[in-house]
Amino acid sequence: MVALFLFWPRNWGIFFSTLFLGSIFNFALANENIVKPVLIEKGVYALIGEIGGRTYENHGLNANFGVIETNEGVILIDSGASAQGAAVLEQAIQKLTNKKVKWVINTGSQDHRWLGNDYFASKGAEVIALHKTVATQKQLALTQLDSVKTVLKDRFNGTKSAYAQNPINQNEAELNLGGTKVQIKYLNHAHFEGDVVVHLPQQNLMFSGDHIYVDRLLGVLPQSNAEKWLDAFNKIESINPKVIIPGHGNVCDLPKAKKQTGDYLKFLVDGSKKYAEGMAGVENAVKGLSHAPQFERLANFNELHKGNISRTYLRFESQ
Ligand SMILES: [Zn+2]
Repeated sequence: MVALFLFWPRNWGIFFSTLFLGSIFNFALANENIVKPVLIEKGVYALIGEIGGRTYENHGLNANFGVIETNEGVILIDSGASAQGAAVLEQAIQKLTNKKVKWVINTGSQDHRWLGNDYFASKGAEVIALHKTVATQKQLALTQLDSVKTVLKDRFNGTKSAYAQNPINQNEAELNLGGTKVQIKYLNHAHFEGDVVVHLPQQNLMFSGDHIYVDRLLGVLPQSNAEKWLDAFNKIESINPKVIIPGHGNVCDLPKAKKQTGDYLKFLVDGSKKYAEGMAGVENAVKGLSHAPQFERLANFNELHKGNISRTYLRFESQ
């Protein structure tokens, strides 16, 4: 068949486009399992990424994303860590619906929440975020572009930072696309300052962004504030969502989120506060709190727990 094409130069176009389609097909196959689609309820999906670290193989999509199909197009929750990662998300969306991505809502400013914005914006999507979120994105952009590039290498090509065109100045907003209501809520300074949750009040579903981690241990980073994060978690509890699409880990309910995120934050905050009040020093705090069998079955516990204690403690000590 291929040989036949080669004898008729006017068919070379078809030959090359077949090759091209073939490579797209291979790209699609290779990327099929990076984010796992989960139907939450009619028209609402989670795309569940790996719970380990960002790698070349997972395109930095080691997090969860959301897809909400409305009468006027798709709302995508978070855009991935690169332009090519955004294309992987787009392929996953195309398997769920033939509607185009109309809005991209950023729940935060960690790389996987927003470095794919430019990809979707260049295809005509509107990027939506609170002013607070955009401020942190701008502050961290250069560092993140550098650090993700070292992991994704050639797969980072084409990635540019892009921000919500008209950032929202309030801490809360209710938007409506094609009859689907979407609430964006800032609760407190959590994993990063400016992180928000996206709540669908009609269905009582919540895309929690990096406020909630299940199945794996959360990470308290230098820019996180465990105490205020715990307060944000308590506010999520009072919203009482029926289903949570966490930032990392499988789709869950509130009791599971409480056990694996809320209770862990409380353990870190209460414990570290006690050590800091006694001026015990970071080594003693880490030593005293490192034994936490109720959380040690969560993935990444060994890698993250001690660092989480020390960063929580040091924030108290500097207050
Ligand atoms: Zn994250």
